[in-house]
This record gives sequence, structure tokens and C-alpha cells, in this order.
Amino acid sequence: MRYLVLSDIHANLDALDAVLASAATEGWDKALVLGDLVGYGADPNGVIAKVRGLPPAAIIRGNHDKAACGVDDASTFNPAARLAAQWTYEALTPEHRDYLRALPAGPLVIDGRVEIWHGAPEDEDEYIFDGPDAWQALEMARTSLCFFGHTHVAVVFHRAGDRFEAIVPEQAETVVRLERGRQWLINPGSVGQPRDGDPRAAYAVYDDLTEVVVMRRITYPVATAQEKIVAAGLPAALANRLSAGR
Ligand code: ZN
Repeated sequence: MRYLVLSDIHANLDALDAVLASAATEGWDKALVLGDLVGYGADPNGVIAKVRGLPPAAIIRGNHDKAACGVDDASTFNPAARLAAQWTYEALTPEHRDYLRALPAGPLVIDGRVEIWHGAPEDEDEYIFDGPDAWQALEMARTSLCFFGHTHVAVVFHRAGDRFEAIVPEQAETVVRLERGRQWLINPGSVGQPRDGDPRAAYAVYDDLTEVVVMRRITYPVATAQEKIVAAGLPAALANRLSAGR
């Protein structure tokens, strides 16, 4: 079984289309979506329609999904994010708002093999940035392989006993071989708004036969996504950050 892992698409349809085209060339069986379909970008309805059409084998909500459908009031968001959440709420069709409202919270275990959550296992809105955060999360993990999102930073944490390491995937393709006896905690990176200094769209594919996770970065028409954000009247900073990958 090959699992396509997507996180933090953030209403960036241009990035999502490029990722799906890239993923289609190698093939996948089940899509896992780790939340934040919308927020920041200008194509919330297009992204939700495309994600629903996959259709995902498992999908959980992110903090921006909650804010964009009224489940959360976005009071903890910065001004640009709050403005984008309000814009998204108004732009969404009633059907798509209902779809977001019905999304479950993580964590979720899929096929008894892999666990997904948006932020952290004990709190979907918490961030896992560093080793201590990852260690704490792995203490709660129910499977030896877990995927998370929320930080928009691609990273692989793994541990065996007291030995703990992190890998920062910087290449267009990073192959991670999942050694037995270890726990793996992987952020595939963000499809639609990377923040690790690399503007390329990020995603991962996990093959449970070979026990390999391939993490990819691919180029997409960033300028097109930026033009749509500006044309929608969303804050220019949300367009600018896409080319910086910050
Ligand atoms: Zn996000």
C-alpha cells in the first residue's frame, strides 16, 4: 500500500495541482490529509473540491479549517491570518463550510500502521518544533510511524530507546528507510505555504511494503497563486511569503 501524505494545503490550488500531478507519476493507493485545507490562499472552494474528489482515505481538521467554518473564532490568529479566515468564511460555499465543520480532530490511526495528527497528539493546535516537542509526542504515539503538520516545516524525527535524531530533508527527493525498532515522526512539509525557506511544494509518500517514506519538493507556478491572493484583496504579505518560503 502506498500512502500519499498531504498537509497544510492552505487554499493553494496551484500547488495542490502540481503535487497531485507529481504524485500521479509514481502512483499511490490511499491519501492521508493532515488538515489546514484552507486559510491564507485564494482557492478554498477549489482545494476542498479537489481534496474531496481524491477521495482521502483519512482526513483531519487543522486550526485554519476550524476558523474558516466558525468552529473556532480565530482569536489566537495574527491579524493577516484572522483576515484570511474571515475572507475564507465568506468565500466558501455553504456545502464546503459544512464539509469543514464535519472534519474530525486528530489523532487518527489508519490501518493499524500509521497515525496522523495536525499539531500535536494531545492538542491539535500545539506546534512540534524541536526535539523535546517530538519526544513528548512520540511518548503518546500508538504506531511506530506518525505524520504531523501545522509548522509547515518538513522534518523527520526518529528514536530508538534513548537515541534521538532529526533529519532535515533539503533535496528535491529525500528517501527515508524506516528501520525496525525505531519510532518515526515525520512532517511532510506544507503543500501550499512552506515555511522552511524552500518555496517548493512539499509532500510525502509512504510505502508500507518497502517501509520507505519518500519526501518530495516540487516547483509550482508560485506567481499565479500570488496573483490570485492579491486579486482577492487578501493581505499582500500572504502572497509575498510564498516566494520566500517563509
Ligand atoms: Zn497550516
